[in-house]
This record gives sequence, structure tokens and C-alpha cells, in this order.
Amino acid sequence: MTENRLRLRNNSNIAIIGGGPAGSFFANDAIKNAKKLGINIQITIFNGKDFSQRGPSGCNMSAAVIASTLHAKLIKDGIILPKRIIRQEIKGYYFHTEEYGIELYKPEQSDKSSILAVYRGNGPLYSTHTESHSFDDYLLRHVIDQGVSLISEPVLDLNLSSNLDTPATIIYGKSGQQNKMEADLVVGAFGINSRMINKIEGLNFGYIPPKTIRTCQMEIPLDATFIKNSFKDNIQVFALGIKPFRFASMVPKDNYVTVSLVGSRDLTSNDLVDFINHPVVRKNLPHDWKLPEKFCKCLPKIALSHAKKPFADRFVIVGDASITRIFKNGLESAYITSQLAARAAFENGISNEDFDKHYYKPAHKLLAMDNKLGTIILAISDFVTKQNWLVKARLSYVKSRKGSWIANHLNKLLWNMATGDAPYKIILMQALNPVFQVILIPVTIKALIKDILGLIARRFGLKK
Ligand SMILES: Cc1cc2nc3c(=O)[nH]c(=O)nc-3n(C[C@H](O)[C@H](O)[C@H](O)COP(=O)(O)OP(=O)(O)OC[C@H]3O[C@@H](n4cnc5c(N)ncnc54)[C@H](O)[C@@H]3O)c2cc1C
Repeated sequence: MTENRLRLRNNSNIAIIGGGPAGSFFANDAIKNAKKLGINIQITIFNGKDFSQRGPSGCNMSAAVIASTLHAKLIKDGIILPKRIIRQEIKGYYFHTEEYGIELYKPEQSDKSSILAVYRGNGPLYSTHTESHSFDDYLLRHVIDQGVSLISEPVLDLNLSSNLDTPATIIYGKSGQQNKMEADLVVGAFGINSRMINKIEGLNFGYIPPKTIRTCQMEIPLDATFIKNSFKDNIQVFALGIKPFRFASMVPKDNYVTVSLVGSRDLTSNDLVDFINHPVVRKNLPHDWKLPEKFCKCLPKIALSHAKKPFADRFVIVGDASITRIFKNGLESAYITSQLAARAAFENGISNEDFDKHYYKPAHKLLAMDNKLGTIILAISDFVTKQNWLVKARLSYVKSRKGSWIANHLNKLLWNMATGDAPYKIILMQALNPVFQVILIPVTIKALIKDILGLIARRFGLKK
């Protein structure tokens, strides 16, 4: 019965809380779906950030790498990013371990899409460029140009009525002012770093937000020619096997390098200093480089799990406050969840049951189930990268056989781990490939024996 009452109709209105990628992607899909149904819908996006600001206050803090799979989707949707938004086209990845490094290359070179490095806001604090660089702003303008209204004020609260005929109410405003807006459907695209998370949890319809951990990022200003020559358009990824770091990357962006760190605990600015002073990391910086006195840094949260029940009657949550692939392609997950939620709302309805069946279950199957395998793979990867002898032996073996099946297979495996281009299920299958493992057995045994002999020699003072 509820399905008939809770549907989007001609002149229905949608309020979207959050003008980050998930909010803009939802609006873009809602426009397409409304056109398909031949109905007129009013869409309003509320956004708390001013993307014209430099630094964290105008930025939805991330490494801001657009996976080639998402880039392909944007091209298909007619969202063609201009030059001022693309800070760097990325050729590949350089994978650093404590003692060894290997360059990874894109396994299939057939499609036109590329990996792109952008800024989410208007570039780093203290930067001096004149044009707008913000990717999030570009997406937002794309939907505003199609008729979406923007209210640049934060949403303070949300009321969902138990009476199905009563629309939801949004309370918004700044500087002590409070305004109200009624909406047939409210979309929560506020992201995991928003205070709205606690408000929504407090509505007690069953929403449990994703678990999170605090990451650390900084922007390093460097000479553009140095970056070009040193990074060679590659993202540098580090698996140093040292605590508390799990993943670290340095993304070249013309005259800046974005450093992003994810740890096994909440990270602080001190961890950033430790990382940047590690000898393997310092090799990527000019030899006389010193940490500037003032620089752009932030400590955003990243999702470690997915939300429970991110929907109710007339309300649905998309983006990383709902379901996202852990540590991989958050922007693409925002695209996927927004697309699924918009389709469910227009094709099926906006009731609790509609969102459960047509949005949450498919999104869960696509993203959350794969995250379970991801957790196992990442734990194995954490363990392996701590075994320097093993990593060094395997990588140097593969490097010496460039162009062979084994070298291509390892490249594909590491590429997928670094980029997230393949689901964790495929990565696991690639890692457990019997031919791959069998070929590496003698290499592993030889390296283990060498490591044990080295240990013994050191113990008896024969070697330093
Ligand atoms: C260190 C780090 C590195 C990352 N690197 C990458 C990467 O390289 N590639 C990638 O694909 N993903 C990356 N991610 C993940 C990616 O940043 C997120 O998945 C993505 O930003 C989620 O998009 P969203 O739209 O759901 O939320 P957000 O991007 O957080 O956007 C939410 C928007 O809602 C607004 N908002 C919040 N509360 C309110 C309110 N009450 N009223 C009005 N507006 C509100 C905010 O101002 C913001 O504009 C990274 C994340 C971290 C932490």
C-alpha cells in the first residue's frame, strides 16, 4: 500500500543535504530519470562548504584521484573535465617497499579514459593560482546549469514524520538564523565527516554510520619541473611495513604533491612528519627540502565499514555515509550509490521498503560484500609487506623477468591493489593463482634461507 502513496510525482521536490560528489551525482541522475518519466521535479542542494576557498575550508579532503573506471563513466554522462580541473594525467604507479621499488603500468591500454589527479576544493592553502580548480564545484555547477537550486547554508536538522502523507522537513541556516523547507524526498549526501551523521543516528530509525578512522594529508609545494622529472607522472605508493602506516601515497599535481596517509589507528600531524622523514620517502623530494613552516594539511576520516539501514520513508543516504569500497575509489562508490538510489526513487518509490529492496540490497551486494574480501586481502598485504626479505626477493625476481607472464601477472595484481580498478574478489583470485604461487615457491624458499643465514651471521657478529 505504502508504495502507491510514496512516489515521486509531477512537481515533487527533492532536498539534497550535501553538494559533494554524491549530492551532484544524485541530482544528475534524478534529472535524467525525471526526463525519462516525463515529470517535472524541483531539486535543491544544500551545501555547507564554499568550494572557491583554498585549503580544508573549501575542500572535501581526499587524495582526489579519479579512477579511470569513474572517468569513463563521467565521459559517458557528458561530464568532460576541463584543463583547469585536471591537475595531472596519471601514467601509472610506482610501488615502494622499504628496500625495493617497482614501476606499475596500466594493464589494458585500450579505452580513452585516464586516471586523473584533481583538487576537490580550490587548491591548497597558500597557493596563488587564479582559476578555479575545484572538481566538486565543477560537478555542482554541472547540475546547477540543468536547473538545480543551490542553497549555500548548512542543514541543521531533519524531521521525518511517521505520517506517510506528511513531507520531510529540513531546518537550515547560518549565523543563528533558522529556515525550514519541506521535501517529498530528502537525500543525505553529507559524507562521513559531517555532524549530520549524529543527527541522523539520533532519529532512531535504525541508521548506524560506517566505522571510521582519521587519516592525514598534506600538500607539498615543489618546482613543477622537479615533480615532472622525479615522479614521471606516476603516483608513488608506499608499503613500508612500518607502524602505524597501512597505506601512503604521493600524488603529483603540477606544482604540488598531495601526501595521503592511512594508518592502523587515528593519525596525527606528528605521523606526517615521521613519514615525510623516512629515507624511502625523502628520495622523492629535493635533497635540500625542508618542511615548510606553514602548509596545507587536514585530518579527514575514512570509512572502514558500511552503514546499516541508510534509508527510511522519504529519506535515503548516498556516498560514503552509506556504502563505499574501503580504501578504494570513494568517488566511484558515491557515483554508484547515487545512481542506484535515484533509480530506486524514480522507478520504484521512496518508501522504506523501496529503498531497502531496490537500493540498499543491490549496493550492499556490489560494494559491501566485496569489502569483506578486501579486509582479508588487506590483512594479508599488511603481513606480507612487513616481511622485507620476501617482498624484496619476489619483486626483484619479477623485475628481472620483465615482459614475462609472471611479471605481467604481478603487475596486474599490484595495479589492481593500488588503483581499485578490479573488485577485491578478482584481486584475491589473482593473488591465489596456482601457477603464480608455484613459480614463486623456489624464490621464496631461497630468500627465506638467505634471510635466516643473515640473521645467524648477525647474531654471531659475522655481519652488521
Ligand atoms: C585521505 C583520503 C584520501 C582519499 N582519496 C581518494 C581518492 O584518491 N579517490 C577517491 O575516489 N576517493 C578518495 N577518498 C574517498 C572520498 O574522499 C570520499 O569517498 C568521497 O568524498 C565521498 O563523497 P560524498 O559526496 O559522499 O561526501 P563528501 O565528499 O564528504 O561531501 C559531502 C558534502 O556535504 C556537505 N555537507 C556536510 N554536512 C552538511 C550539512 N549539514 N549541510 C549542508 N551540507 C553539508 C559538505 O560540505 C560536503 O560538500 C579519500 C578519502 C580520504 C579520507
